Amino acid sequence: MSVSRLHPDIHQRLRDKTVRTDDGHWLFTGGKRVSGHGAIWFEGRVVSVSRVAAHLYLGLDLTSDLCALHKTTCPHKNCWNPECLYVGTKKDNTQDMITVGVFKGWGND
Ligand SMILES: [Zn+2]
Repeated sequence: MSVSRLHPDIHQRLRDKTVRTDDGHWLFTGGKRVSGHGAIWFEGRVVSVSRVAAHLYLGLDLTSDLCALHKTTCPHKNCWNPECLYVGTKKDNTQDMITVGVFKGWGND
């Protein structure tokens, strides 16, 4: 996997605030959004760490509507290991939540 050389600073800032678990997750220990997702200042705004990682490693366009999503194999909201991420749509995200049992339905009860 090639590492982007365009943003040396962001790599350093991410690494400074990351704990790597024995089972291969990269947990961001810096700021968090209310949702529990790690977030970092990047190119003039606050961006989710997973989104920044997808941008740096997976080529996600930060201006697009696509999302950086966690695979169901990764239980950590603040993990940014590109191995744990994939680029998808918001619809994919909902599908994943149903798969892992987080999604509670549309208030049908
Ligand atoms: Zn992970």
